[in-house]
Amino acid sequence: MNKFGVLVVEDDAPIRNLIATTLKTHDYKYLLATSGEDAIMQASTYSPDVMFLDLGLPDIDGVEVIKRIREWSVMPIIVISARSEDEDKIEALDAGADDYLTKPFSVEELLARLRVMQRRIALLQTDNELIENSVYVNGKLKIDFAAGCAYKDGEELKLTPIEYKLLCLLAHNTGKVLTHKYITQKIWGSAWDSNVASLRVFMATLRKKLNDDKDTTNLIQTHVGIGYRMLKNDSM
Ligand code: CA
Repeated sequence: MNKFGVLVVEDDAPIRNLIATTLKTHDYKYLLATSGEDAIMQASTYSPDVMFLDLGLPDIDGVEVIKRIREWSVMPIIVISARSEDEDKIEALDAGADDYLTKPFSVEELLARLRVMQRRIALLQTDNELIENSVYVNGKLKIDFAAGCAYKDGEELKLTPIEYKLLCLLAHNTGKVLTHKYITQKIWGSAWDSNVASLRVFMATLRKKLNDDKDTTNLIQTHVGIGYRMLKNDSM
């Protein structure tokens, strides 16, 4: 796969330079922006493949940038935020961001996030095919949407209706971090605290049935205090 184009939006020069140097070293094409308005302008002009977005920008708020870009683009957005800003991360994910990177981060973390997005982009491109065929395959997991069945290693999983709904929701958003609020709203139509507690229970039983805790490469990632993500697994 060709290394894609990355738009880096960060007003803090040392962090911006670190990201730029990393991308350059690894042959990614990149553009730099230092404000929200500049980010929106460059995103619409150059159509980058993925965006790193700092949430604290000098002009408009990062969450506002996401909302405006999401009006016309599904480009993966990775938010950059400080460790203390969990609320901001959740707000950004609910506004349509795909992933987040917490400051301070390592070069390895940055590159790992890009690889996840590379897989997500490949998946978004085959999304139409997926809907047409109505079958989702991810490593050893297979979901037959038309039949309403899920399989692991060719064996049908005995899922409850809520577990199945949960699995489909994660599969449809492979590579994207989904917040507790987003998931509970999709599954139960509301995001009450009691539903978030139920979600943990359903997620635990779903993972047990998937045997996800015993595999060396987990399919469902837990983001403590934030939510869950289905990873695209080619090697399983
Ligand atoms: Ca900043």
